[in-house]
Amino acid sequence: MDQIRVHSPATVSNVVCGFDCLGFALSEPYDDITLRLIDEPIIKIRHNDSYGLPTDPDKNVAGVTLRAMLDAVDEPFGFDVEITKGIKPGSGIGSSAASACSAVVAANELLERRFSKLELIEFAMAGEMLASGSRHADNLAPCIYGGFVLVRSSQPLDVIELDHPPLFATVLHPQIEIKTSEARAILPREVPLAAAVRNWSNLGAFVAALSKGDTELMSRAMRDEIVEPARSSLIPGFDDVVQAGLGAGAVGGGISGSGPSMFMISASREAADGVAAAMSEVYSRTGIEFNTYVSAIDPDGVRVV
Ligand code: ADP
Repeated sequence: MDQIRVHSPATVSNVVCGFDCLGFALSEPYDDITLRLIDEPIIKIRHNDSYGLPTDPDKNVAGVTLRAMLDAVDEPFGFDVEITKGIKPGSGIGSSAASACSAVVAANELLERRFSKLELIEFAMAGEMLASGSRHADNLAPCIYGGFVLVRSSQPLDVIELDHPPLFATVLHPQIEIKTSEARAILPREVPLAAAVRNWSNLGAFVAALSKGDTELMSRAMRDEIVEPARSSLIPGFDDVVQAGLGAGAVGGGISGSGPSMFMISASREAADGVAAAMSEVYSRTGIEFNTYVSAIDPDGVRVV
């Protein structure tokens, strides 16, 4: 086999009380990528979309990720990469992670699965470093594994796939830009101990609720006293959207990644559709353009098509 095509899902990271450690995968939207093995040690990138992302492999997340993998392989071949992005860059639903993960999973298939999933995430962290300046895995891990994944540590890498009931997500993506650097700069440098205790209590409870399928407990646990109060000020209409989602029956939700997307989790597709309608109604009053997605939690992660 010298050519392969994969789909790579969008992901929600920083899941409320799980800042920098908890994420999940969405069935939609997703990126589509085709990789060909070539017998020159170079990486060529083409885009079939209108996002204007760099084709220089040193400036493209997929290129940097594949370079990290080729350095580990140390053999004289390279890759021709064709990317059709379904996930808008800078949306806060893991666009850069989707490119990194699709590239390494596709390359690994062409290399007859030489590397483990954990090793693929290590390579993909080079791509996240390019996109955001830090080697974080909380979008990469759910993108590769699917479902809900907890990153206990990124160095050394330790990821835990979590049991969860069938759940559905509604994402509202306002068409505004929030720079990752701005979203980082606004974070508190110090955290009151009482707030930290409440956050880790909630995260423990949320993980337990996922494994029990207890949506009432999930709902009580989906609170964040540390990051959300600071970052939500960057997203116009945040409080109203969350209230509308909860009012329409969502289990809970918050900021996706570092924004501007917001997400809500629901127990059924019907509920998630109702939540989308309620969030859209409220958001249309802001005058800001937006997209919404309603999606199952994706169980598989990157998949060969
Ligand atoms: P998201 O939260 O949607 O992943 P990020 O801010 O993490 O968005 O990543 C998007 C940044 O990475 C943009 O600055 C974009 O130009 C850059 N980038 C470079 N290559 C890619 C790629 N293949 N896919 C997505 N983003 C890329």
